Amino acid sequence: MKVMKAIPCGYCKGVLRAIHIATETRKNYPDAPIHILGMLVHNKYVSLALDSLNIISHNEKNRTRMELLDEIDEGIVIFSAHGVSNEVYAKAREKGLEIIDATCVDVLKTKQLVAQYLKEGYEVLYIGVKNHPEAEGIINDDRIRIHLITSVEDVKNTDISSKIFVTNQTTMSIREIADILETIQIKYPHACISEEICQATRSRQEAVACLKDLDLLYIVGDPSSNNTRNLAKCADPSVKKICRIETVEDIDLSDLSEEKLVGVTAGASTPTSLYQQVISFLENYHDGDSLPSVTDQIL
Ligand code: SF4
Repeated sequence: MKVMKAIPCGYCKGVLRAIHIATETRKNYPDAPIHILGMLVHNKYVSLALDSLNIISHNEKNRTRMELLDEIDEGIVIFSAHGVSNEVYAKAREKGLEIIDATCVDVLKTKQLVAQYLKEGYEVLYIGVKNHPEAEGIINDDRIRIHLITSVEDVKNTDISSKIFVTNQTTMSIREIADILETIQIKYPHACISEEICQATRSRQEAVACLKDLDLLYIVGDPSSNNTRNLAKCADPSVKKICRIETVEDIDLSDLSEEKLVGVTAGASTPTSLYQQVISFLENYHDGDSLPSVTDQIL
């Protein structure tokens, strides 16, 4: 089987930094209770590996960061790479928790831009994903003047007469955001726009778009990861089948045969060992092989 890898793929600098911060925190405070608000990065296997270091992820579905913070009463709280709103920061401080902030610098940059424009009297159109922690961390800084835009339809439903600043969640799809931005420019020609898809997201989307004429494209990553989800949207139309998998164990053997041309990419929060295992299995595949067990080397 011929295997084409999208380069780059997998861990970005923000994810590597967040994991480094969490593991170093455990080394520096061997006996302290350590909590993560949400998932440190959007990958279940990373959360499980952190659990094994007794670093507990608080990630009940449909609960906001403010609500999750109610579960933490002592020790250290780590804010994930997605960032938190100012009110979450303040509440953690009020509770007397020691705060370790692993927010990615690219998310912080967007947050600072939004704060600056709000201060100058603008309303903000923020293109993002509903209930995603990065979007939550920004929108909740001003629920009246920051408007979440998830689609072209949402733009059409706005009616804003003041100055407008437009920006976006860092992990959006380049293609999707282009349609939304175009609609905004038509409706609000005076809007000030700063497109903030991060370089890691952009380069992974561009790399996957370069893989053409594949029989199969494997996208390795967690279902909750926005940048992983968006890689599928960037695949070239010549790709015959796209399979989103979390690990090698999710490969459907009936899809494989030795003569196929297969591509592999991975989201920015996917552990290197998980997608390397997929690549290695596919590169060495012979008809009739069975699937290996998923590696436990995550951190
Ligand atoms: Fe930072 Fe981009 Fe990675 Fe998110 S995907 S953690 S914004 S570098």
